[in-house]
Amino acid sequence: MTTPWCGGCDPHSRADAEGQPCAACHPAAAPVADARRWCGQCHRRTRLTADGRRCQRCNPLAGRDDDPYRRRAWCGRCDKRDRMVRDAGGVHKCRACHPLGRPPAQWPMHDVPDGYTEQLMACEWLCYVSPTLRRTGSDRLRVLLQLWFDAGWTPRDVLYALDHLPTGETQPGEIPTAAADPRTTEAYVKRRLRGWLDGDDGPLPPVNRQIADKRRKVVAAQEAAREEWLRRSRVAVPPALSRGAAMARQVARDAAERNRRRRRAADDRELQRRGEELVAGQEASAHWRELLVREAQPHAEEPPPGVVPSTGEERLRAALSAPTQMISLPTIGESLRSRRPSPRPR
Ligand SMILES: [Zn+2]
Ligand SMILES: [Zn+2]
Repeated sequence: MTTPWCGGCDPHSRADAEGQPCAACHPAAAPVADARRWCGQCHRRTRLTADGRRCQRCNPLAGRDDDPYRRRAWCGRCDKRDRMVRDAGGVHKCRACHPLGRPPAQWPMHDVPDGYTEQLMACEWLCYVSPTLRRTGSDRLRVLLQLWFDAGWTPRDVLYALDHLPTGETQPGEIPTAAADPRTTEAYVKRRLRGWLDGDDGPLPPVNRQIADKRRKVVAAQEAAREEWLRRSRVAVPPALSRGAAMARQVARDAAERNRRRRRAADDRELQRRGEELVAGQEASAHWRELLVREAQPHAEEPPPGVVPSTGEERLRAALSAPTQMISLPTIGESLRSRRPSPRPR
């Protein structure tokens, strides 16, 4: 912690009674001044002195315990078996002797740490949450991750990339144990992050940005679709007023009217045909009646000279085989006479 402890909060996490960052001295509330200029006497990138301790002159977190996770002797005030303190406030890790009893200031996992101090604080937090990474120490881890943080990666992206390939598959290979040599852990971090370099050895876009870009695209598409729908519903005319609907109704009405007219015309034609038939039938029967009446009167007609009068039967057959109009009056008269019971030729 570079800001002096205010005395009113937890000295290590700088959290107040509610667990919120102390407004007086938490780095998130009162940002830590960025790393001082390199003093020139320690390791330039890790700001560690030759004996591995944080350089008091230029390491922004020099005030914090160099190795907060080391095993400590039992303080005598907590539960000896699990180094937990059980009191009215519940159960929590003993600050004096639990290896994780002195958590660093929490770095938001979705925030990109900017600059030396923030990157170091983010690495402090990564070391706290990851037993594997803890072995490297936050100062060395910051050197390993600087390239990625500078490219806009968050601690969450780093953890994802250590477990996954850019394709989404699980990273192959072993994970060093929490007791592994720090150099093994450093090699592991380098090796796994190498898969996330592009052709120019620059970091690929972090997953958080890929997700955000995708979400932005989806939201934009939804927004565009909604706009289009609203625009259409604005220009849409209610069905009762729509020109197209009115036209369709008119067409349907016209078709119905045409059908009705066609049916009526057909009925009329049929009636007329029947009427004509009736009239024709009446005329024909009147004609026949007239003929019969006229035929009933006696008359004598001799066949012209040279013509042998045929018998009644023959003449009737000839008359019937001829067209109706050609039936001559004497023929019918004779046939009628021949059917009378009186003198009938055989
Ligand atoms: Zn220094
Ligand atoms: Zn204790």
